[in-house]
Amino acid sequence: MKDTHKHQGLRNQLVKTIEEKGIKDKNVLKAIAAVPRHLFMDSGFADFAYQDKAFPIAAEQTISQPYTVAFQTELLKVSQGDLILEIGTGSGYQTAVLIEMGAKVYTIERQKDLFKKTILFLPKIGYNPKKMVFGDGYKGLPENAPFDGIIVTAGAPMVPKALLSQLKIGGRLVIPIGDDVQIMTLFTRTAEKDFEKLELGKFRFVPMLKKKN
Ligand code: SAH
Repeated sequence: MKDTHKHQGLRNQLVKTIEEKGIKDKNVLKAIAAVPRHLFMDSGFADFAYQDKAFPIAAEQTISQPYTVAFQTELLKVSQGDLILEIGTGSGYQTAVLIEMGAKVYTIERQKDLFKKTILFLPKIGYNPKKMVFGDGYKGLPENAPFDGIIVTAGAPMVPKALLSQLKIGGRLVIPIGDDVQIMTLFTRTAEKDFEKLELGKFRFVPMLKKKN
């Protein structure tokens, strides 16, 4: 598991690409430049790690496209020390980007195999989430709420009410909503019972599923 100058060079190129696609938040770009994405993919795919593409990981899931990770992270407006809940740990790449930005990350994954793999892997390369949970993301994590931000990294058929209720006032939920194609949607909790909703374009994610396995 090595990170070399060559990898750093490829990462700098990738940062340029996503900057050209419109990502402006310097802290997001810095995090993408820092996280060794090739270590999150099976070694057979490592050469593709710094293309701006999604890729297969275990259990028929994917590691999100770097631009998508950057886009969602930018919408979260992460500050140092923020409590962030992530639904869909997957490879742990998005988790690492959030930790790199100084967030305290709680993350939930429903696939047992992926969960077991990633809970061992992340600390090995120096990324320590506050909590990693094998469970159902539709329920969120009431015992650790409220959160400054919640990010859903799978396509949700609808907005889980539990997630909205676990936001601080001023907190943000970034969630792709839809079946085949999803609309990236940002909810901001403006008061106890008020939410502002913003739709931000089409994306494609693996589906958010019910029932664990
Ligand atoms: N953030 C990940 C993206 C993984 S793809 C990364 O950077 O690699 C989406 C992930 O969401 C998959 O791992 C999938 O198993 C998980 N998922 C799907 N439905 C879920 C649910 N209801 N609760 C938690 N995780 C879920």
